[in-house]
Amino acid sequence: MDTLQHKLKFENRYINQLPSDSEQVNTRRQVHGAAFSWATPVATANPQLIALSDDVAQMIGFNSEDTASDLFLDVFTGNALLDGMQPFAMCYGGHQFGQWAGQLGDGRAINLGEVVTPAQGHQFLQLKGAGPTPYSRTADGLAVLRSSVREFLCSEAMYHLGIATTRALSLCLTGDQVMRDMFYDGNGAYEPGAVVCRVSSSFTRFGSFQLPSQRGDIALLQAQADHCIASDFPHLIDGEKIDKGTYIKWFGEVCERTCQMIIGWQRVGFVHGVMNTDNMSIIGETIDYGPYGWIDDFDLDWTPNTTDAQRRRYRFGAQGEISHWNLFQLANAIYPLIEESLPLEQLLDNYGKNYQHQWCEMMADKLGLQAYQGQDDLVLFSELEQILQSVETDMTVFYRQLANLGKNEPDNWLVTIHDSYYQPDRLSDKYKQFMGLWFERYTARLQQDNRSDHERKLAMNKVNPKYVLRNYLAQQAIEAAEKGDFSEINKLQALLKKPYDEQENAEQYAQKRPEWARNKAGCSALSCSS
Ligand code: AMP
Ligand code: MG
Repeated sequence: MDTLQHKLKFENRYINQLPSDSEQVNTRRQVHGAAFSWATPVATANPQLIALSDDVAQMIGFNSEDTASDLFLDVFTGNALLDGMQPFAMCYGGHQFGQWAGQLGDGRAINLGEVVTPAQGHQFLQLKGAGPTPYSRTADGLAVLRSSVREFLCSEAMYHLGIATTRALSLCLTGDQVMRDMFYDGNGAYEPGAVVCRVSSSFTRFGSFQLPSQRGDIALLQAQADHCIASDFPHLIDGEKIDKGTYIKWFGEVCERTCQMIIGWQRVGFVHGVMNTDNMSIIGETIDYGPYGWIDDFDLDWTPNTTDAQRRRYRFGAQGEISHWNLFQLANAIYPLIEESLPLEQLLDNYGKNYQHQWCEMMADKLGLQAYQGQDDLVLFSELEQILQSVETDMTVFYRQLANLGKNEPDNWLVTIHDSYYQPDRLSDKYKQFMGLWFERYTARLQQDNRSDHERKLAMNKVNPKYVLRNYLAQQAIEAAEKGDFSEINKLQALLKKPYDEQENAEQYAQKRPEWARNKAGCSALSCSS
């Protein structure tokens, strides 16, 4: 048991290199001149480990004996600290739904420390739902089982899809009950409390720079930026000094990473749901899994977030544009370090172009084209999106089945993609004619490539996942877990480790959303309550 205590090497650079809150008491307040505040996790009544990510555990340096120990359970539910852990909550601000919201901060996340791993360098271990911090505002700092299951499963699924993300080590029940008003309708109820241990090399957000900048605290802004560059972008430092040129290169790289992440989301049909600037990671990782959702029937206007149902700011088709807007806010925040707008404007300008180009390349991959060839391909992609949106067509099933069409068989299109339609019997003649014409052009385009049908199928199946964490699948796992059955969580976790592979006895997980889940809470729409 003792081995765990001394096993990990902590090097807490963030708290050692950045200014701390001089106030030590854990009361809710505005925190000025500090990058973080001290905060200790609250003890939990009766903790229970219900899911573990073996590969994250291994990356951190734990073996199976370690993760099965009582001490592991205590540490990752807030009941104990290992030597070298110095818990703290980060101070940041952000734009929420387009409005500057001032100070936000880690209201229910407590960092335990930065562990030095052999393969992945420094990794923060962070408990989500471990009690209040100075940033908890009017809330309790806790998390419930349903949102914790969703964070745990989705962040691990995202990693295995090959899209940058924070990861999750463990999912534990705390044994405490937490009051939540799930639909914000005055009907609060107790739900089981839970804690997830998140892992990342950085939890710094766009909002970490926005807050000191908005407050005119340029010294803190610079300290945050220099620390971020030295820790997470060391390759940008030429010699010893960080100067204006470094900040510009840094912003350029943040743009690139953000672009790649969003293109990844569009490829697999992930809708984040709350792309506020406090939920944008500076290292370009998917972070803060709240009311996110996965596209079932292809719909660029869809958002899973009920809080955003009216304006649909964070809808599927707007994620590229929103990331651009968020980067614009980041550029504004770091401007005082550069004092020249032109280079930032140029990078923002490029972002739009890069995004469009990378989107085209991603679509070419999804459709099995060897390379994107310009305007004619773009027309093919745009028309496809319009057609997919015109009748309910399951995005994941569609692209997976599309790989089975031979390039000399345009007439087989309907048989090939039949299962992707939610109501195949109701396709109109006009629709079929339109789609038939699209398929004629698509197969003609495929014939320009010198790849066999088989080769193309293999390539397409590497970018079009067969299994994604459909909203209703997560919801089923949650409902079972709330009754004490965690097997579905474990099944999904195992399945989603290989999202691109055909897996035995797993066909039921690759089906389109069943009819009962169409309008069910948790399956089609989610509130921010978590
Ligand atoms: P989000 O959009 O979910 O990332 O949260 C926005 C802000 O609210 C962040 O500062 C969170 O830390 C805070 N927050 C969300 N839920 C809670 C909670 N249960 N207790 C305290 N703070 C919370
Ligand atoms: Mg957040």
